Amino acid sequence: MAKKVVILGAGYAGLVTALKLNKLASAGDCEIILVNKHDYHQMITQLHESAAGAKSDRDIRIPLASVLKGKNIKFIKDTVEAIDKQAKQVKLKSQVLSYDYLVVSLGSESEYFGIPGLKEYSFSLKSINQARLIRIHIEKCFADYHYDPTPDKLTFVVGGAGFSGIELVGELADALPKLAEENNIPYERVKLYNVEAAPMILPGFDEELVKVAEHSLKSRGVNFLVGVPIIRVEPGKVHLKNGEIIETQTLVWTGGVRGSQIVIDAGFETEPRGRAKVDEYLRAIGHEDVFIIGDSCFVMNEETGRPYPPTAQIAIQMGENCAANLYASIKGTQKEKFVPNLLGSVASLGRKDAIGKVGKSLKTKGWIAYRIKDMSQVRYLAKIGMIFK
Ligand code: NAD
Repeated sequence: MAKKVVILGAGYAGLVTALKLNKLASAGDCEIILVNKHDYHQMITQLHESAAGAKSDRDIRIPLASVLKGKNIKFIKDTVEAIDKQAKQVKLKSQVLSYDYLVVSLGSESEYFGIPGLKEYSFSLKSINQARLIRIHIEKCFADYHYDPTPDKLTFVVGGAGFSGIELVGELADALPKLAEENNIPYERVKLYNVEAAPMILPGFDEELVKVAEHSLKSRGVNFLVGVPIIRVEPGKVHLKNGEIIETQTLVWTGGVRGSQIVIDAGFETEPRGRAKVDEYLRAIGHEDVFIIGDSCFVMNEETGRPYPPTAQIAIQMGENCAANLYASIKGTQKEKFVPNLLGSVASLGRKDAIGKVGKSLKTKGWIAYRIKDMSQVRYLAKIGMIFK
């Protein structure tokens, strides 16, 4: 009898799993059910561009109907509420699904580290809807300034200078001067801060490239406050550990991510940041019928002694491995251990600039780096069949 494979989440990991399993298996092998709370796939690696108004929602929202057209994949638009691993069931908002194999690819959530007021009084950048809120809010700040010209309206703060924070300030550094001009406000009145707790921006990244990024962003007006954690937030005020208070109407929090709460609530074994521990085939510890992939899981890189980062690149590779191992499990054949192929990482610094590493050691910067990042998006669109049908 065909096995029922339920995939939770149509992000990078879940969507790639569904598409590859559909390619490998025939209808008699399995029924593939993909559950997602929206009827579109979000290109979350481009959210910073949408938040700053450089891209429209439509540019980064791919209708699942187009991706799944002609595929033997049943799509259910619904919200996952809970997983009952003993009963092998998933509770959705409007129905209960049973499964033979479950793939949990529910992504990650913002980590607030228990900082008072942070969750309540900041924007996060984890979805297209949140990016839209940021974009509209920033535009409103400029528009409101004419009626009530207080400096906090033109003060923009990004908390955290990891890749997400740096990519966002890069876009804002390009977008804010245009907004100031459109609104007929002198740009000197606009302040853009990036606050980082660690002693440097992009902690742990190649120091030479970090200097390049810092120079590029500072030259476009970004004020870095490094070595100063945000310790408290209240409406209109961001409190730093050194006693400084930034008065602002806009704090975007990009200070870290944690696993999905649904995975924790289901009782899977997790590490302190809520990401599930998995075996070498990406199956939940003690549950051979449940694969947990993408940002929802935790895989150690034995070479560096640190976990693999929660990136789209790794999520896509996990999706491919998961599909192959689901197929092998259904057929009773040999499974493949998950061994990621690290292709490098590039951070954009606005519309025309970027820094990054290709492979393990090749450094790249400027327009070429920016194009490399663009090409990786194109490669992904081709992989999910959105370029060449
Ligand atoms: P992160 O955890 O990498 O960075 C968060 C930053 O916030 C850290 O530098 C941390 O020191 C800082 N921070 C934490 N608490 C703070 C506080 N109280 N005050 C001020 N700063 C504070 O998170 P991220 O940037 O969202 O990235 C998550 C993962 O996604 C990473 O692995 C990253 O490499 C990856 N990513 C990759 C890309 C890309 O490849 N282009 C883009 C975005 C994210």
